[in-house]
Amino acid sequence: MNNDYISTILIVDDTDANLIALSALLESEDVNILQASSGNEALKIILTNKIDIVLLDVQMPVMNGFEVAEILRSNNKTKNIPIIFITAISKEEEYVFKGYELGAVDYLYKPIKNELLKSKIKVFLRLNKQSKIIEEKNFELETIIEKLKEKEIEITMLARLDGLTGVYNRRVFNEDFIDEWARNSRNKKNLSVIMIDIDFFKQYNDTYGHLEGDNALIEVAKEVVKTVGRSYDEVYRYGGEEFVVLLPETDYQGAFFIAEKIRKNIEKLKIEHSGSKNLNYLTVSLGVSTCIPDDKMNKMELLDVADTMLYKAKSDGRNKTVGNLF
Ligand code: GH3
Ligand code: MG
Ligand code: MG
Repeated sequence: MNNDYISTILIVDDTDANLIALSALLESEDVNILQASSGNEALKIILTNKIDIVLLDVQMPVMNGFEVAEILRSNNKTKNIPIIFITAISKEEEYVFKGYELGAVDYLYKPIKNELLKSKIKVFLRLNKQSKIIEEKNFELETIIEKLKEKEIEITMLARLDGLTGVYNRRVFNEDFIDEWARNSRNKKNLSVIMIDIDFFKQYNDTYGHLEGDNALIEVAKEVVKTVGRSYDEVYRYGGEEFVVLLPETDYQGAFFIAEKIRKNIEKLKIEHSGSKNLNYLTVSLGVSTCIPDDKMNKMELLDVADTMLYKAKSDGRNKTVGNLF
């Protein structure tokens, strides 16, 4: 809200002379003045205009000031508009109380004392402005908090992903591996892992440069993700040019089949690799291992077997899948 904001005052009185007199009195105050000569008209104006304060005559035919106030208080959009009741009736406690129960801010008694009215209006408009500023600041704060929460989720997500390839990182693999080991152990289901290592990758970097090496890693990761179909199978970057696939509820034959599919699909990418000793294309070697987890087993051994099988695939000529049951 800027400082040039001009407040709008609605004067409600069934007597024209009063409307004119009150308007004339407030004209010098740098405010917009709207007039209503009945409760109904006042409600219509309030619903279609931004009103900062209502000067509300209590004694009016059809709908009196208290009734108007009651309607304003029952509407979320209008319930906070300050009201100054203007009344000719005596200052009996009963009436004063009735007004305050409705949430009125103040009372003025006829005949109106000009200076009193002016100073009251000034105070209320200032309070009103301040509460509007607070409202705006609150809204800004809520927006910032909302954005921070989104960022926090984003950061948590990013901390789980490998920065280069976008697949989950090793930390997440370690967590998921423990979870899946426990789950498959409970359900007495097969748990399989596939270790993947790019062949002659050091040579690839040496030939094409590190940047091209990075691109190749991204391509390989993408292809592995594409090949591994089921939603609870997951791909992780295990190390530099090594990936691991975790396959819950998958037996050895199934895992071996998927590993071979990965190997063939990466070969089919035909990423040129002139330094490769077996093909002119980038290839991978894979090690597969499967077990039905059991509390008595050492879960790290499942990974060791897969790693040993990968080593075997390398020594058997690379671009190969070798596997064994654990
Ligand atoms: P092998 O066929 O026996 O697996 O041989 P290799 O050359 O692939 O294996 P080695 O372990 O000797 O080399 C792995 C290479 O992977 C070395 C390293 O520079 C490269 N590398 C690891 N991480 C990254 C990476 O993030 N980006 C790039 N461009 N290269 C990487
Ligand atoms: Mg390696
Ligand atoms: Mg390698």
